[in-house]
Amino acid sequence: MSHKAGFVSIIGKPNVGKSTLLNALIGEKISIISPKVQTTRHRILGILNKPGFQIVFSDTPGIIEPKYKLHGNMMEFVNQSLSDADIVLFITDHTRESEQDEALIEKLRLIKTPLIILLNKVDELKDNDEVFAKVKFWKEQVNCEAVIPVSALNKFNMDLLLERVLMLLPENPAYYPDDQITDRSERFIASEIIREKIMMRYKEEIPYSVQVEVTEFKDEEKLLRISAEIYVMRESQKQILIGKGGNAIKAVGVAARRDLEKFFAKQVFLQTFVRVKENWRDSDKLLRQFGYKEE
Ligand code: GDP
Ligand code: MG
Repeated sequence: MSHKAGFVSIIGKPNVGKSTLLNALIGEKISIISPKVQTTRHRILGILNKPGFQIVFSDTPGIIEPKYKLHGNMMEFVNQSLSDADIVLFITDHTRESEQDEALIEKLRLIKTPLIILLNKVDELKDNDEVFAKVKFWKEQVNCEAVIPVSALNKFNMDLLLERVLMLLPENPAYYPDDQITDRSERFIASEIIREKIMMRYKEEIPYSVQVEVTEFKDEEKLLRISAEIYVMRESQKQILIGKGGNAIKAVGVAARRDLEKFFAKQVFLQTFVRVKENWRDSDKLLRQFGYKEE
C-alpha cells in the first residue's frame, strides 16, 4: 500500500489562530495559546499519524518585522519552515489587517510551494456573504490551491482541510515514529504550559520579558516532580510576578499544575523560582541557552 508523508507549514500574522489550528488538527494541546500577540516563540512540530499517512505540521511565530534580537531569530524560524515545506497553510482572519498588507500579499505570491489559504474565525462572522466575499478576495489576490473558511476554535471544516492537504501530500515513508505527536520534549512542553499561564495573567511588558526553564522533570511512581525557573529582566518585574505575599505566582502555579496534570495524565508537584536575568532578549549567549538560536 502506498504511504504519504510530508511537512506542512502554518504561517500567518500574530493572533490569527495558528497554534489553535495546530492543536485542533493534532487533537492535543502542544502549542500554547493566548489572546496576546507573539505567544509562540519557537517553531513547534505537531505530527498527525493515521493509517496510510503522516502529516508533520509546523507552527511558527507570526509574521512580524524584527524589533529585538529575539524577533530576528523568530523570523529565521518562519523562513526556515517555508523552505522545507511540502505544503504551506496561510491563515488569516476576518480583521482587514492581512487584506491591506501589500507586502505580505506580495510575499505570498512568491511562495512556490502549494499554498492553501485558511480564513479562520468564521464563527465570529454572522453573514455568509461576508465569508464568500473574503474567499473571493483571496482567490483573486493569490494563486493558491484552495481558500477554505474554518474555525480552529470550533474545529469547523477541519475534515475538508485535511482532505485537501492529503491530496497535495507527496508519497513518502513516515518521517517520525507513528506514536510521536511532537518534536518537542516533555520539559519544553512543561515550560510552555507555565509560560502560557504567565502570558494570560500579567499585563504589559511582563509576558514578553519572561523566560521559563524547567530544571527538574522527574517521573516518579506516583507523581511527576517539576521544578521551573522563571527569568525576568528586572527586579521590579520580579516583584510584580511574585505579587503580594506570593499570591500572583501561586495562582500561576495552580493553573499551570492543572494543565500539566491534564497533559501528562499524572499528578504533578510543581515548584517555581523567580530570578532576574538582565536583558536576556538581546543576549546571544542567553538566547542560545534558551534554545532560540542554533549552536
Ligand atoms: P497565533 O498567534 O496565530 O498562534 O494565534 P492563537 O492560536 O494563539 O490564537 C489567538 C487568539 O485567537 C486566541 O484567543 C484564540 O482563542 C483565538 N482563536 C483562534 N482560533 C479561533 C477561531 O476559530 N474562532 C475564534 N472566535 N477565536 C479563535
Ligand atoms: Mg501561536
